[in-house]
Amino acid sequence: MRLILVGPPGAGKGTQAARLVEKYGIPQLSTGDMLRAAVAARTPIGLKAKEVMDAGGLVSDEIVVGIIRDRIGEDDAKTGFILDGFPRTIAQAEALEQMLQAGDQKIDAVIELRVDQSRLVDRIVKRAEEAKNAGQPVRKDDDPEVFKQRLEAYNRDTAVVVPYYEKTGLLSVIDGMQSIDDVAASIDSVLQGLDEKV
Ligand code: AMP
Repeated sequence: MRLILVGPPGAGKGTQAARLVEKYGIPQLSTGDMLRAAVAARTPIGLKAKEVMDAGGLVSDEIVVGIIRDRIGEDDAKTGFILDGFPRTIAQAEALEQMLQAGDQKIDAVIELRVDQSRLVDRIVKRAEEAKNAGQPVRKDDDPEVFKQRLEAYNRDTAVVVPYYEKTGLLSVIDGMQSIDDVAASIDSVLQGLDEKV
């Protein structure tokens, strides 16, 4: 199964992707995680991406498409994957389609976690507090000011990905303001519907 999770930062994509990894045994491909790893390892890509990420902007399509191209070619992604945070632009969505087509593969479902954006800043402040209390590193871009830039980038560049997938008939919209368990149950019923179609 090849699945895309779409939604603004803080919508819960990472939380839901982690659960789906357990349930389906397919990897979560988070471009944000991969870029943070590249920044931490000070690779050439990390060095290029760091400033943009710290400011809440989008890393270039060329870089992220390259990262995803390499990643979906790895063995553990052969039978499926959950994309979290990619594609974030129409150009990325088109590049993804081309790379999948070349391998005779396709996306099975796109799930949008739709949220009330006015409540996201509170969520992100909470996420940073929880990480801090658990002794985990706090993401630099979870600062409320940077978060607003990330939300702006979403509305400016990424929100258009939703109608793009709506046209293909792959999109399902889920209320991301429900509890984590209820969001999970809603995703499960979408995926169950897919099984029945096959
Ligand atoms: P995330 O963990 O998905 O919130 O991503 C953290 C940051 O990584 C974003 O604010 C962007 O700067 C960068 N990033 C992650 N995925 C992408 C992408 N698909 N396209 C461009 N930039 C990305």
